[in-house]
Amino acid sequence: MNNHNVSMEFPNLPARLSGLADLAENLWWSWNPAARMLYKMIDRQAWKASVHNPDKMLRDLPREVLEAAAKKPDYMRYYDLVMSRYRKYMANRSCSFFPGAGGSSPVTIAYFSAEYGLHRSLPFYAGGLGFLAGDFLKECSDLNVPLIAVGFMYPEGYVNQRISESGWQENVSTRLDRNQAAIAKVLDADGNHLIVQVPVVEPPIYVGVWKVEVGRVPLYLLDTDIEANDPWNRGISARLYTGDLEQRLRQEIVLGIGGMEVLEALHVKHSIVHLNEGHAAFALFERLRDRLQNGFSKEEAFINVRQTTVFTTHTPVPAGHDVFPFPLMDKYFRDFWPSLQMDRDTFLNLGVHPEEPNKGFNMTAFALRLSGCRNGVSRKHGEVANRMWQGLWAGEAKEGAAIDFVTNGVHVPTWIEPKMELLFNKYLGPDWQADHDNPYLWELIDEIPDEELWKTHVWLKIKLFNVIRERARQRWTNDRSHPSVALACGTLLDPSVLTIGFARRFATYKRADLILQDEQRLRALIGSQQQPIQIIFAGKAHPADDPGKLMLQKIFNAARNPDFNGRIAFVEDYGEQVAQYLVHGVDVWLNNPVSPMEACGTSGMKASLNGVPQCSIPDGWWLEAYNGENGWSFDGGHIEGLRDKIDADSLYQVLEGKIIPLYYQVNEDGIPTGWVQVMKNAIKSTAAQFSARRMVREYVEKFYSKAARFTTEVA
Ligand SMILES: *Cc1c(COP(=O)(O)O)cnc(C)c1O
Repeated sequence: MNNHNVSMEFPNLPARLSGLADLAENLWWSWNPAARMLYKMIDRQAWKASVHNPDKMLRDLPREVLEAAAKKPDYMRYYDLVMSRYRKYMANRSCSFFPGAGGSSPVTIAYFSAEYGLHRSLPFYAGGLGFLAGDFLKECSDLNVPLIAVGFMYPEGYVNQRISESGWQENVSTRLDRNQAAIAKVLDADGNHLIVQVPVVEPPIYVGVWKVEVGRVPLYLLDTDIEANDPWNRGISARLYTGDLEQRLRQEIVLGIGGMEVLEALHVKHSIVHLNEGHAAFALFERLRDRLQNGFSKEEAFINVRQTTVFTTHTPVPAGHDVFPFPLMDKYFRDFWPSLQMDRDTFLNLGVHPEEPNKGFNMTAFALRLSGCRNGVSRKHGEVANRMWQGLWAGEAKEGAAIDFVTNGVHVPTWIEPKMELLFNKYLGPDWQADHDNPYLWELIDEIPDEELWKTHVWLKIKLFNVIRERARQRWTNDRSHPSVALACGTLLDPSVLTIGFARRFATYKRADLILQDEQRLRALIGSQQQPIQIIFAGKAHPADDPGKLMLQKIFNAARNPDFNGRIAFVEDYGEQVAQYLVHGVDVWLNNPVSPMEACGTSGMKASLNGVPQCSIPDGWWLEAYNGENGWSFDGGHIEGLRDKIDADSLYQVLEGKIIPLYYQVNEDGIPTGWVQVMKNAIKSTAAQFSARRMVREYVEKFYSKAARFTTEVA
């Protein structure tokens, strides 16, 4: 059921370099700097022009350039070295710590998620949930956890952000060119694109299947934008989280039920299902149906599905939990419940939240009921989720916490900046990456001379500012917009000034504008002669979220306002690439959600790993990570109505009293040694503990190993 013909796809590639094509089709290159270098060395400019996308670059480069590289002995030595590493990586399939991995009937986990944040060239994500899923796959690959993944291809998924002169977010949709990314068509036995019909739904919906290789983990993407479908059906997978409720329901039917059908068509054996958030929970109906068809009694089927299903809930924000009105459910599932030997009420009751019984079918309630392994994504979020959903288990004996937790982590090879990585190589030893979840290793961070760490950081800061200025220059040149727009984009930023970074989705609970609460007090900090600060913002509001867009407008207008001295900047089009530059290059990472709405938060982990300490409200992961020396915590308390004001007050206090003085306190060589100590503490306390490696191991130990004991031949 594979594959593509390399020479047809990359006609300019000489045979001696054919490995570059294999490598381009596997995202392994994206988290291995040596592999990225292999492309960059051929032609730096072309690499940049492709936005670091080898697939596109190999298509665009003329044959002469590629042939010239193949004639350089230095290049070829390096090529052979990297290719040998890649081949070794792909050949190794043993997983030492998951008992289900080996043996005669190995256990495979099918992982379902509506979004994946893997790389800028694959725009299948909206925010944190997607990056969590992407990092999860990469780490499962690195650890050899036997996992396959299912998701959506969103052909119009990518919404570029452009801020108008009035500060209003405009969305520019760009269609994904499926030929210019590391996505391959999955072919059927006759060599045609594999098309699968989603069971049960009438009139029928068809999905085309694509595949992304994430190291050793395959990710199958469902695509409804194919000839076989009528226009309404074609649009099902057009974009993430459509606002139209019926289309949204159809999306989730395709992802869950269609996704299971695709695995069957591919003959992919799997015996554990892990649902990353409730969007794909309809897969569990398919699991029940499979068991009933295989002779399980109804009770046995329920028990076994529970034993082998893992469900992760990701947010306490109500809008994050889909609820479908019963009439809509009737329309699509009328023929389904008989196949589960159920009547309508029994079927729909599986998704009823006891506190809102008339609202409809709640995907989270349903997933929680049918999953034996349930978790939130930080200790605090576990507690909150238990309170939120306790009604589901009323009257049942409590066997410990009904909802456990596994705190999120980030994929270290993806988020470590290459220059920082070299510095770690020097002081932690060249093998530190292989051992990065060993907490003792990170004690060695203190061996790095302050000056070296500081210089590396300043270098990254300047790199960030160069990128921001280049983007501002392009906006200025292309759009002929008012000069204040170019200034708001960050033209006047100064690398010698303490720089605060705030970048995330503009969901209102994240309160991007909190620091603007008291403009006068902020102006004093920004305008200080001796110890000024500056702030860089980035983030997208959901296209339907007007309150979020208003918040963004407020910030953009502040950035344009000369009263703020050109020291507030808004960087357009926040995505994986902008995130990389920001988490590596600012001085402090700011996080100020309304607690406890930030179930975990991960951008602060990416920053801390690179020596950018976080200043945060005590919420999500920060409650587990903050130790008094690795960043800052501030909290005004929870007085309704005054909350923003007093939280902002306490933010100004921590800035004025702690952060600013420490940053500007330098030794005779100009090194802020106290500050560098906080940077080191940030790295030490987060690199192992908040890595995706620690996280994946925990999922295996807590859930996959347990579920593996109950697996059967039936998926
Ligand atoms: C890490 C990341 C996020 C998630 O950040 P939070 O701290 O959870 O808000 C969102 N978007 C991008 C591009 C990221 O890299």
